[in-house]
Amino acid sequence: MRHHADAILHSPSDLVRYLGCAHATALDFMRLTRPEDAPERNQESDAMGALVQEAGLAHEEDYRNRLAAEGGLVEIPAEGSLQERAATTIAAMWKGAPAIFQAAFLQSPWHGFADFLVRVEEPSDLGSWSYEPVDTKLARSAKASHIVQLGIYARMIGTIQGRAPARVHVQLGSGERASFRMAEFGHVLDAAITRYLAFVANGARGTTPDPCDACSLCPWLDHCEGVWEAEDRLTRIAGLSTPQAERLQAAGIAIFANLSPGDTVEVTPFSEPGRTIEAQVIATDNRVSQESRDFIVRTAIPNEDDKLRPGMSFRVQFTRNGTTRPAIPEEAIVWGGEGSHLFLVREGKAVRVPVTITSRRDGRVFVDGRVSRNDRVIVEGVQKVRDGQDIRLVRRARQPEQNVRVENAPTRGRDGD
Ligand code: SF4
Repeated sequence: MRHHADAILHSPSDLVRYLGCAHATALDFMRLTRPEDAPERNQESDAMGALVQEAGLAHEEDYRNRLAAEGGLVEIPAEGSLQERAATTIAAMWKGAPAIFQAAFLQSPWHGFADFLVRVEEPSDLGSWSYEPVDTKLARSAKASHIVQLGIYARMIGTIQGRAPARVHVQLGSGERASFRMAEFGHVLDAAITRYLAFVANGARGTTPDPCDACSLCPWLDHCEGVWEAEDRLTRIAGLSTPQAERLQAAGIAIFANLSPGDTVEVTPFSEPGRTIEAQVIATDNRVSQESRDFIVRTAIPNEDDKLRPGMSFRVQFTRNGTTRPAIPEEAIVWGGEGSHLFLVREGKAVRVPVTITSRRDGRVFVDGRVSRNDRVIVEGVQKVRDGQDIRLVRRARQPEQNVRVENAPTRGRDGD
C-alpha cells in the first residue's frame, strides 16, 4: 500500500498478504499511516524478496523475448509517474497491441503492474479484441496467491475494456501455461476484496500475531517473535502450530500460560483421596518440555496437622472458568464505518446486530453482541442485505455452522479468562 494524492492505494500483493495474515496488513497499515508507532521491518526478508524477484526476472525475460519474436509487443516504459504509465497502458490497449509488457493500472483504491496483457479476439469496448492478463512465475504450479493477483488485474482490465476478461494465466517456470476462468473464482475474489477494504477502512485493527505459513518470509517476523517471547505463549514451543496450541489449550495445557505465582491449586494426597488442600503457587517453570509437554510448578502446601511427609505424591487440580461466546462463521461479519455487525434472521426479517470480535478460530469468530445460541445467521451475500429486509428461506442451510454456536473462546493470556 502507498499514499497517492490524498488517498491510499492498495496493490494485489497487499490483498495476498492480508489473506495470509491480517496482522501483517495491520502492521503495513501502521507503517504507512503512523510510521512513528510502527515496529522495525526485517531487512533480511526484504533482501530475500529481492533475490526471489531477481530469479524470476530471467523467466520473465524469456517470455518477453518469445512474445517480441511473435511481433507487436508494446513495452510500457518503467520511467514516468504511475498516471503516465497507466495512461500509456490504456492507449496501447485501444490501439490493439498484440501483447503489452509491464502494464500499469491506476484505479483507486487499487493500482498494480501486470507482467503481460495478451490480446484475445473477443470483442469489447476497445473493438473486436480484448485483453487477458498473464504473469510469469518460476513456480512449477500456480498458487492461490498468483490467481488472486491476476484476478485484481482482470478486474481493472475489465473496467477499461468494458468486459471482464474470461481467463487469467500463469506462465510457469516449466514453460507451461496454467489458465483459470474468472467465472469460477471471481465471486470468491470479490468477497476477499470487500473484506480487505473493510478491514483497512476500519483502521486495520484488532489483530494479533499468530504463527502461520506466511511467517517465514514475512518482514515483520522479528517483531512478532518479540511479541511471542514477551507474551510467553504456547506457540513458542518449537514446532507447535496455532491449531496444535489451541488443541492443547482445549486439553487443559493452557494452564501453562495461565498459572503463575500467587495462584491457588487444589492438591489431593494419593494416600488420602478424600482430602483436598489448597496450595499456593510460588514458582512456575518458564517452558514446557517438547517431548512430554510437562512443566514444573512449585507450590507451598500447608501442613497444619503435620501429616504430610517429604516424598509424598499428590493429584493437582487447577480450576479456571473459561469464557463461552457465540461463534459465528467469519464470512458473516460485515465491516462498516461504525465497526462490525452481522445479520440474523428473525421472524422473516434481516436484523442488523452490532458485534465486537474477541477472537478467531478455524474460520469462525467469537463475538460479543446480542446474539443467542441457534440464532440463524446470514453468511453469504451479506454486503447486499439491509436491516429490516424480508428474508425467505428457500432451502435449508447445508452447513450447521450457519447457526450461532456457543463455545469456549480462545483466550489471550490471563486477562482474557
Ligand atoms: S510474522 Fe507471521 S504473524 Fe507476524 S505479521 Fe508476519 S505473517 Fe503475521
